[in-house]
Amino acid sequence: MALLIDGRSVAAELRAQLRSAVERLWHERRIRPGLALLLVGDNPASQVYVRSKAKACQEVGFYSLVEHLPADTSQARVLEYIERWNEREDIHGILVQLPLPRQIDEQEVLLRIDPRKDVDGFHPENVGRLVLGLPGFVPCTPAGILELLRRYVGSLSGKHVVIVGRSAIVGKPLANLLLQKTPQANAIVTVCHTGASDLASFTRQADVLVAAMGVPGAIGAEHVREGAVVIDVGINRIVDPATGKERLVGDVRFEEVEPKASAITPVPGGVGPMTIAMLLWNTYRAATGQVWDGQ
Ligand code: NDP
Repeated sequence: MALLIDGRSVAAELRAQLRSAVERLWHERRIRPGLALLLVGDNPASQVYVRSKAKACQEVGFYSLVEHLPADTSQARVLEYIERWNEREDIHGILVQLPLPRQIDEQEVLLRIDPRKDVDGFHPENVGRLVLGLPGFVPCTPAGILELLRRYVGSLSGKHVVIVGRSAIVGKPLANLLLQKTPQANAIVTVCHTGASDLASFTRQADVLVAAMGVPGAIGAEHVREGAVVIDVGINRIVDPATGKERLVGDVRFEEVEPKASAITPVPGGVGPMTIAMLLWNTYRAATGQVWDGQ
């Protein structure tokens, strides 16, 4: 039986550490980390994500502010909020929930966020810093995956990690993170996408397989080498034919893959909770000014 990688309990532990750190920060420097969250439109999944992020802020003692704007909000109005929050000293992190409605240029909005408040790590300056191996904000989901692998697998040096998915929020930053020449990373990395005509021929070579595709149950036993570690990033909402109710499933067919894997993340309760925990840590680091190594 595979070891179950319990993201929920690791995230709870990280939040508990953070609560103490937040108290110390207040005691010693009278700083309370503050996160501003911007939600535009009525995407139900985005509303759930923003609510969970704001709730998590409250739990660790952060100040948080949620601005929910209508779906027809103009780009100029969104930029006004960003500019205002860039100036505010009590706001250390700014998060714009993606996707944004079509009339808004996502790249333009992300570019306007002060890179020192870009706790999602999507600003080109932080993306560039990650690629160059310089200190900066690392996107939350890849950072959470690395933390799980550090705890459950140990050093990845020389291990072959195959990532399926090349998005700017998961696949690409994760590949860059794993390539860093550090004792914890230093992995051999392959990134697959829809251009792979025989996906299994790549994924079967993986010591660690990361599925970040957004395709329910796309990865089965035929994609996995005996003894591999399997990280399922997918969060897909499907209607369960048995109950008629909506439920969350990953990109991996858990029941089928688990007997072959040496360790595996469940969905829910694997990578998902780690993403929010890393967002909180990024915001804490923004508040302490540690991110840029004293610059
Ligand atoms: P995107 O849709 O942006 O990217 C999906 C990637 O998977 C693309 O690169 C695509 O290739 C690739 N892909 C899709 N189907 C196949 C296939 N059959 N074979 C090979 N490659 C394939 O998704 P995201 O990266 O934003 O998200 C991926 C999943 O992770 C989603 O389920 C999302 O909900 C979840 N997610 C979970 C998070 C968490 O906290 N756990 C956080 C963020 C996302 P191509 O580029 O060629 O189209």
